[in-house]
Amino acid sequence: MKRQIRINAPAKINLGLDVLGRRDDGYHELRMVMATVRVFDRITLTVTAAPGIRIQTNRGFLPTDSHNLAWRAAAMLMEEAGVEEGLFIDLEKKIPVAAGLAGGSSDAAAVLEGVNRLFDLGLDREALSARGARIGADVPYCLMKGTALAEGFGEILTPLPALPPCFIVLAKPRAHISTAQVFDSLDRMTGWEHPDIDGQMAALAEGDLEGVARHMGNVLELVTAPICPAVGEFREIMLGRGALGAMMSGSGPTVFGIFADEESARAACNALREHPQAAEVFLTAPYEPAGRTGEGKE
Ligand code: ATP
Repeated sequence: MKRQIRINAPAKINLGLDVLGRRDDGYHELRMVMATVRVFDRITLTVTAAPGIRIQTNRGFLPTDSHNLAWRAAAMLMEEAGVEEGLFIDLEKKIPVAAGLAGGSSDAAAVLEGVNRLFDLGLDREALSARGARIGADVPYCLMKGTALAEGFGEILTPLPALPPCFIVLAKPRAHISTAQVFDSLDRMTGWEHPDIDGQMAALAEGDLEGVARHMGNVLELVTAPICPAVGEFREIMLGRGALGAMMSGSGPTVFGIFADEESARAACNALREHPQAAEVFLTAPYEPAGRTGEGKE
């Protein structure tokens, strides 16, 4: 019988992103409020008799070797466990690449979970998380999913009350932004205003969507917005169509808006699709994993 697993890897957004400073080891000390949204990469893992890991993907420009985070996740667990069979990874990407949505990290997290189950490795969440952190800073969060506070370089995680039901619009500009360059540029800046992460967590605790939106802030936007004008333009389009808040996610350049009603969200999507710099526009909603709120189904 074919041994196969299908997993959905969701995108993440940052409702809040603060950089507290740069550590001696070069990592940045972060404080972020994370949420997952219902835009998924679909990953199918199939055990093969022939050894080795092969990747097939619908995004021809992505690496299919050890430079792909999904490949690295599979190799890490399979080598450690001495698995003699091979693995075929079908990666159907929907999450925009290099967009501030942690698509690669989410794929890696999904592959860690899938390989653990397929080969019965018996690793618990903590063990997977420790291995995931060696692949990328966002991987432990992508294993956890849902609304959470991420500290340290992103690996110290605390679950938070779920983002109240809402509509979320994602708009990815055509520009490509390098996360490393964004952090380098931020290092040369001083005295930025810190977003009120505590205020946002208090709003989440009260189930206050407007409060969550009011406290949205991302210091990395200070770097990305001036070099990518679409960021500010998309934000204005969303706010003009009734978004409670609109901001860039991660190091960008994707901008997201939070809407209380679907009609306004749809109007924003239509307006954004008219913008010449809009590469991809999604209307989506928060995703909370099963067991956290009783949801978790697609
Ligand atoms: P983050 O929000 O964590 O900064 P991102 O959304 O900006 O991540 P990704 O989509 O994860 O960025 O991809 C960043 C780079 O990683 C790309 O340039 C891509 O070539 C490489 N990469 C490796 N594996 C993957 C993968 N499975 N999916 C997407 N990109 C991948």
